[in-house]
Amino acid sequence: MTTTATLTGFQPTGHLHLGNLLGAVRPVVAAQRRTRPVTFVADLHAMTMPHDPGELRQLTLEVATLLLAAGVDPDRSLFYLQSQVPEHTELHYLLECATRYGEAHRMIQFKERGRGRSTRLSLLTYPVLMAADILLHDTAEVPVGDDQRQHVELARDVATRFNTHYGQTFVVPRAVKPEVAARVMDLSDPSAKMSKSRGAAGTLFVLDPPEVIERKVMRAVTDSGDTVSYEPDARPGVANLLEILAGCAGGSPAALASGFTSYGALKRAAAEAVVATVRPVQARFTELSRDPGYVRRVLADGAERAREVTADTVHRARKAVGLIA
Ligand code: AMP
Repeated sequence: MTTTATLTGFQPTGHLHLGNLLGAVRPVVAAQRRTRPVTFVADLHAMTMPHDPGELRQLTLEVATLLLAAGVDPDRSLFYLQSQVPEHTELHYLLECATRYGEAHRMIQFKERGRGRSTRLSLLTYPVLMAADILLHDTAEVPVGDDQRQHVELARDVATRFNTHYGQTFVVPRAVKPEVAARVMDLSDPSAKMSKSRGAAGTLFVLDPPEVIERKVMRAVTDSGDTVSYEPDARPGVANLLEILAGCAGGSPAALASGFTSYGALKRAAAEAVVATVRPVQARFTELSRDPGYVRRVLADGAERAREVTADTVHRARKAVGLIA
């Protein structure tokens, strides 16, 4: 059994944003120099909430194209579309048979996102699909933020139970702190993570035109102070701008702070750095978008290569539970 260093899924539930770029795409691109990370567009995960089929199709292609434009290299990454690798759903079912209802029901995200809606059953079982994503690739360590830690714990419990009942089948994964904890916060509400689903005013999308980026950054929420200092707890808005600047232009947020005497100057520098970071990605995206057939071929090829690994894992699991001799 091999172990992979990085496994990252991108849900096509909206447009990719700066948080995705700095917090997830960049680590994948860095990991490509040392290992062969697994990078997939998690289209099945995008179906746990009400969705529009046409939009899902369009966003899936957009996210895949953007990942390639941002440096995911299909020769150095195992890059594919989750739904094109049927082992994800097959293992999902096998793992459901080793998961207790109460375990899934306890997940905080289910409680938060399922509240007051006509909840899809897949929202309850999605952490089991995530467990399948992880276990399929014999992933030993999963770098995750606090919000996903509970799901990795579930994957760990289910893998351990499966191994105990049916014999050693899966590598038991461990949640680890990401090496560089780039976490980009929402510009309008710096207490919340920048995300695809929050209001567009606080989210910098990778495909936003320069003037939109400038406008959003200039309107970012700061505080009533008038000096620039890096104090994430006391001054989260200013700290976020400094982190964004550091993430895009280099340097440390604390050291950068001393170079500014006003919020306006900091915002202008941050906006400029974001524009400089996304510009080449946007240019490459435009190029790649001229030939969607190319992106589809890359994904199909990636799925085929992924199946060389995932088919083996599912074979082990099927054998262990008694489906095949
Ligand atoms: P998602 O947007 O949920 O599909 O997440 C795709 C990847 O981006 C995951 O690895 C997330 O941890 C990462 N990510 C999402 N939002 C942020 C953010 N605001 N800051 C840093 N990383 C993020």
